[in-house]
Amino acid sequence: MIVVRFLKRMAIGLAIGGILWGGAMTCNPSDLPRAGASAHSWAKEPKNIILLIGDGMGLAQISASLYSSDNRSVFESFPVIGFHKSFSASDLITDSAAGATAFACGIKTYNNAIGLSADTLPCYTILEEAEEHGLATGLVATSSITHATPAAFIAHQPFRTMYEDIAADFLQTEIDLFIGGGKKYFDRRQSDERDLIAELRSKGYTVNDYFYSDLSLYSKFDPSKNFVFFTSDDKPVLAMQGRNYLPLAAKLAPPFLRERSKKGFFLMMEGSQIDWQCHANNGYSLLPEMKDFEDAVANVLRFALEDRETLVIVTADHETGGLAINPGSKLNKLDLAFTTNGHTAALIPVFALGPGAEAFSGIYENTALYRKMREAFGWATIAAPPTTGMN
Ligand code: MG
Ligand code: ZN
Repeated sequence: MIVVRFLKRMAIGLAIGGILWGGAMTCNPSDLPRAGASAHSWAKEPKNIILLIGDGMGLAQISASLYSSDNRSVFESFPVIGFHKSFSASDLITDSAAGATAFACGIKTYNNAIGLSADTLPCYTILEEAEEHGLATGLVATSSITHATPAAFIAHQPFRTMYEDIAADFLQTEIDLFIGGGKKYFDRRQSDERDLIAELRSKGYTVNDYFYSDLSLYSKFDPSKNFVFFTSDDKPVLAMQGRNYLPLAAKLAPPFLRERSKKGFFLMMEGSQIDWQCHANNGYSLLPEMKDFEDAVANVLRFALEDRETLVIVTADHETGGLAINPGSKLNKLDLAFTTNGHTAALIPVFALGPGAEAFSGIYENTALYRKMREAFGWATIAAPPTTGMN
């Protein structure tokens, strides 16, 4: 069975990769879409970019998930694979703040920095620039939405823990959609009397939350208004405890954003808690986080294969835990071990599919993801920042 599935998977990868595949494509597994023999080709340039970040997701996390899922993985559907070097300006071991700032702004900065350069100047993020170009924008996370990874795309603060300041920075933009935890940083603030949810509503946003509703009740987000949904007051629960909104958001957010602007969209979605389970050295709760994230990736792929104008990039900011699959492991029964409670400096895989995907093969700095995304959008080329940013 494993061999058969593996061969089917190869066929999907080849079909999606646009490589001519002799004979009829007879394999059509139910869990993933495929390009198909009659599929029209990709657009020349992407209108939309969806960047998916599995926080802390290195090759071992991907391998552990694959070997715990009957030797199958959504990552096998990607035709282009590369690696990035994740180090920050302050440390060979990055944190998520500097890691996400590298993707968002194309610069290496110090650990803890949210959308700031190493000398604490605000940097223009790809999300802000997308907005300037008239594209719709969105952020989805399974942490609080003010947590480092989503924050670095929209906020500018010297320390990642400044959650209320980060929340206030959301109001400086016209972001079309955000979904995540952290409601209390918006409506019950310690540092001031502002009610940012009331402010969002007065700007015309639809704002709902877990207390009154459930994201699973939605089959569509109303594209006539900006859409915000808070999935918890602070941190959302674990996937193991029933948190499952990321795959649904991956299904509903792309068509919503496509309707929000004819020019296209930029969407970042994060599987935030892969990192947290690796910090906890808990392989048992890591696997459901990986599955949740991979289900979201699969839904994004379904959209991209239908849309044909969307570039999908999946990567991580860094590896967490120094995860290893130890001797004695068997298929679907792994012996997982960790070397640290912190992050590591291992090269991080990058998976790409869609128009412009080929630029993501090779080995490059994490900051190059930003430049490659801008170039894919056809925005003016900028000079490469220094790659020897370690000090
Ligand atoms: Mg994160
Ligand atoms: Zn971490």
